[in-house]
Amino acid sequence: MPKNEWQRRTERAEELIRDRPAAGEVLQFFVAITGLQEELWRELEGPATASADPGTNFFAQPLPSSLVARFGSFLSSVKDRAPAVVVQAAERLGHEDAALQSHVLDSFWQENAGGALPPGPEDFFARAFLQPYAVNVRSRLALQRGGPTPCLCPFCGRKPSSGVLRPLGDGGQRSLVCSLCLYEWEFRRIVCPACGEEDHAKLPVYTAEDPKHVRVECCDRCRCYIKTVDLTKNGLADPVVDEIGAIPLDLWAQDHGYAKLQLNLMQL
Ligand SMILES: [Zn+2]
Ligand SMILES: [Zn+2]
Repeated sequence: MPKNEWQRRTERAEELIRDRPAAGEVLQFFVAITGLQEELWRELEGPATASADPGTNFFAQPLPSSLVARFGSFLSSVKDRAPAVVVQAAERLGHEDAALQSHVLDSFWQENAGGALPPGPEDFFARAFLQPYAVNVRSRLALQRGGPTPCLCPFCGRKPSSGVLRPLGDGGQRSLVCSLCLYEWEFRRIVCPACGEEDHAKLPVYTAEDPKHVRVECCDRCRCYIKTVDLTKNGLADPVVDEIGAIPLDLWAQDHGYAKLQLNLMQL
């Protein structure tokens, strides 16, 4: 049976843990979270939700109460597998009443309606918990194409948390990967995904000796950066996992005065 996307990411993270011990702790926790997300995703893929009206855009709808009701048990499961600092945050949120937990999830889900959560534990728990639902909702929607390639996810409207270069002819086709529903959409190579800058001279790209296949793509106009995983250099890499694993590049970019366009799931 072919592996699903959660299993593929888990496998890649386990490879990186062996090859890049420096990112081991973060990636081990990522593997644990991905396992919990896969369980949620499998339940959502079941016949009960598949029968929903295919035309409904669930990104624009309130979260189903049956899903929200599961958040408490998700927090307990995370606690069993998390580093100490995350355990404390999960306990704090787990002890809150159902109304507050639901408010955290709704604020995250309705980001575009002005909710939004600042980076931190609440954003992490809400994103980790709602990502499988977002993937499920997106897979049931047809994409309305048209207009220029967007800087935000054409499905859920979130920012990309990584880029990817896939082999195309002699070079690479650039895409962006959504930070919530994980959709990948083509994006012009010489454009800043934060401010739209197109001047090549203002869009420096930095690479390190190790890992060679992850680039830091910066913009000197808005001072944002995004990390892009170059599959033309390493065909085994994964756009989400290898981005998370390349932590030293974030430190480098931030030391040089760039701010990340969107933190990844692990809040890095
Ligand atoms: Zn999305
Ligand atoms: Zn920019």
